[in-house]
Amino acid sequence: MSDFLKLGVDELRAEYDKAKSEYEKYKTKGLHLDMSRGKPGTQQLDLSMEILDVLNSSSNINAENGTDTRNYGILDGLYEARSLFADILGVKPENIFVGGNSSLAMMFDSIATINELGCGGQTPWNRLEKIKWLCPAPGYDRHFGITEYFGFEMITIPMTPVGPDMDMVEHLAENDSTIKGMWCVPKYSNPQGYTYSDETVRRIAALKPAAKDFRIIWDNAYCIHDINDTPDTLLNIFDELAKVDNEDMVLEFCSTSKITFPGAGIAAMAASKANLDIFKKRCQYQTIGYDKLNMLRHVRYFKNIDGLKAHMQKHKAILAPRFDAVITQLKNDLGDKNIAVWTKPNGGYFISVDVLEGCAKRIVSLCREAGVVLTMAGATFPYGKDPKDSNIRIAPTYPSVEELKAAVDVFCVCTRLAATEKLLNK
Ligand code: PMP
Repeated sequence: MSDFLKLGVDELRAEYDKAKSEYEKYKTKGLHLDMSRGKPGTQQLDLSMEILDVLNSSSNINAENGTDTRNYGILDGLYEARSLFADILGVKPENIFVGGNSSLAMMFDSIATINELGCGGQTPWNRLEKIKWLCPAPGYDRHFGITEYFGFEMITIPMTPVGPDMDMVEHLAENDSTIKGMWCVPKYSNPQGYTYSDETVRRIAALKPAAKDFRIIWDNAYCIHDINDTPDTLLNIFDELAKVDNEDMVLEFCSTSKITFPGAGIAAMAASKANLDIFKKRCQYQTIGYDKLNMLRHVRYFKNIDGLKAHMQKHKAILAPRFDAVITQLKNDLGDKNIAVWTKPNGGYFISVDVLEGCAKRIVSLCREAGVVLTMAGATFPYGKDPKDSNIRIAPTYPSVEELKAAVDVFCVCTRLAATEKLLNK
């Protein structure tokens, strides 16, 4: 057991041979394990099956105000669904829009809306020569996919355990009017599981961007998704924005994808009246109304925020052993080798591992050859390019604890193999 960086060539060669022979053995096992996407496991999905029994053909399908939920209408969602999300996010129901099954789709649509219609009385973005966007990284690959799709130039902002590098964010946003926005996953960030500190939230709220139509996508996907009894807390961004009269700068999102069913949940946006009005202006052409039966089902199932929180305790009980299994295994196999560091989040869906520079792609490909699928190396950075080729995202939610142990075994062997290859210049 030793620090690989302090080993002599012969000792390193011995470590390489050991890792190589263990690796070859794993390759013959025909494993099929997947730690690539942040999907709830079957046991988690089973938790919400009764939501399907909440409504049946003899149910009262009227909303509290008498609206027949089977029919067209109510673009911004049932009032009781807006109230439930308002309680989750700590805002007023009138600032909530409840949409379809995906918050990511709403984020995409928000950007598309501003692209086409503009916001804050400014020129629509699609009429401008150049748009730049701040991307805290490591971050969520699908966010970066959206801004790449719209042709925005993405600027990487280093993430720290307390949020994005705010000196850099302030300097860039406050001096360059072509920078129009920023991605943020403020709680249990994807992939590191970091939560923005109070100071970071306050500095973000107090930004004075050069662009009057600078918009922050505050993706609070993991707002109530704790995995242990020492959860992180996040300041309410809209409370902070109100103090500095800056409420138009942030669009907040969340969904029940990882509360009930990712394919069949409900998603919401919280925003100022001015921003919601712009969003609805485009949305009214897109749909005559979202699935209100599903909204009703969710509201009747959870009843209120306390019902939701009680449900999240059940998810926690399923997820905690999975995160523990990964972190324990990483510590046992790599803890003293100085070739990898990893995060130990209190919630969310991911663990982020940083390996020796130049080794991430190699490790992901070695794992794949041995039957263990990981998120593509580089995916956590804009344009899929990790400048140090060192970040790997582990998604421990879908596999069983036994499968995870086997998968992390393989991952650790691959990490030792790639590190010794690098140190021996193989
Ligand atoms: N935001 C983040 C940060 C996520 O990690 C995910 C899912 N991996 C989503 C959004 C997707 O949310 P939805 O299912 O509501 O579209």
